[in-house]
Amino acid sequence: MAFDVSTVRAQFPALRRRVHGRPLVWLDAASTSQKPQVVLDAVLHAMEGAANVHRGVHTLSVEATSAFEATRDSVATLLGGVARDEVVFVRGTTEAVNLVAQTLGRARVGQGDEVLVTQLEHHSNLVPWQQLCAERGATLRTAPLDELGQVDLAAFTALVTERTRLVAVAHASNALGTVLPVRAMADVAHAVGAVLFVDGAQAIAHGPVDVNALGCDFYAFSSHKLYGPTGVGVLWGRRALLDSMPPWQSGGDMVAEVERTSATWREPPHRFEAGTPDVTGVIGLGAAVDWFQSLGPAAVADHDQRLLRHAMARLADVPGLRFIGEASARIGLVSFVMDDVHAHDLGSAVDREGMAIRTGHHCAQPVMAHFGLSATARASFSAFTTTDELDLLASALVRARRSLGLAR
Ligand code: PMP
Repeated sequence: MAFDVSTVRAQFPALRRRVHGRPLVWLDAASTSQKPQVVLDAVLHAMEGAANVHRGVHTLSVEATSAFEATRDSVATLLGGVARDEVVFVRGTTEAVNLVAQTLGRARVGQGDEVLVTQLEHHSNLVPWQQLCAERGATLRTAPLDELGQVDLAAFTALVTERTRLVAVAHASNALGTVLPVRAMADVAHAVGAVLFVDGAQAIAHGPVDVNALGCDFYAFSSHKLYGPTGVGVLWGRRALLDSMPPWQSGGDMVAEVERTSATWREPPHRFEAGTPDVTGVIGLGAAVDWFQSLGPAAVADHDQRLLRHAMARLADVPGLRFIGEASARIGLVSFVMDDVHAHDLGSAVDREGMAIRTGHHCAQPVMAHFGLSATARASFSAFTTTDELDLLASALVRARRSLGLAR
């Protein structure tokens, strides 16, 4: 099926907005996505007949529970056809990392053990592992980057030892776009009995994800980067691992039996879903996943790669512009700096033309340190992004350079 960008665009009310008198050009998908009308409708519908889930026998609660649980099925299919009870709803990727670090991590990682991450991790997939290692007397190792912003598999492999208990890597980098060789990393981790956690926050909206093909043990993503609402996300984990994990937060809904001084836990995924969940958010996420599936993740990936090639070609012509991160495998995202211009000034200049790009360290300061920078500008693409918009960005960057008094 041909991918028709104009049909996709028509579904996004945000794209009818004007910013500083110009049509909005949203090139900040890596930060968060705009939402299609079906997601807005699903959220509104969930709030119009608000009810809690898993509790009531009345009609509205039964309806809410069925819509909420339908999202679990949609996510299980999205991730390549996993079991629905391996899908845990959390607040987002950050919470998923903390959940695993504080349950499985505390149980598996002890004094003298090792946890391995890479140098391109978002702070969310780094700081919780730092904390875990500090608490347990373990060592955090970091697989280095090469000059293109790729993780060298040989260097990664050399850091995996008999003491490695856990490996946590991004599927794709939010600062550079690099896609990591997760399958190969899984094999290396499993050879020493380590568990592989994958942060899928950036990869999920850029193409198909099959967690079994990736060979990972956990995979996390946030709804808001997949055209869904903020405040909700997913932790997928292998059933045997989830079964072995103690509860994280406790309270209502995660308990089987409660007596005066003790309680027993429900099976996963409910064991990890204490309290009233984000019912509206989960229902909105379900609409987003179904919408994304209707586009076809493989078709989205093709479009994304076309945009990437176009952006690289057009931005290469902008005087003074230098790409940061040029991995051979990338998602639709370009990070760059410009000689003599601070990234924030570039961001403000293109904002005046209605364009949203991101500037800063992108919550990935070890990446910035690797390149000796404090900030980059980043343009990241959505299913609705057009090559015309990328042309506009390139010309706006040229104008920005001139308006800052730089002749070329
Ligand atoms: N990991 C990566 C690679 C990300 O890009 C982000 C969000 N920028 C996160 C983790 C954290 O996601 P959230 O803030 O939705 O929890």
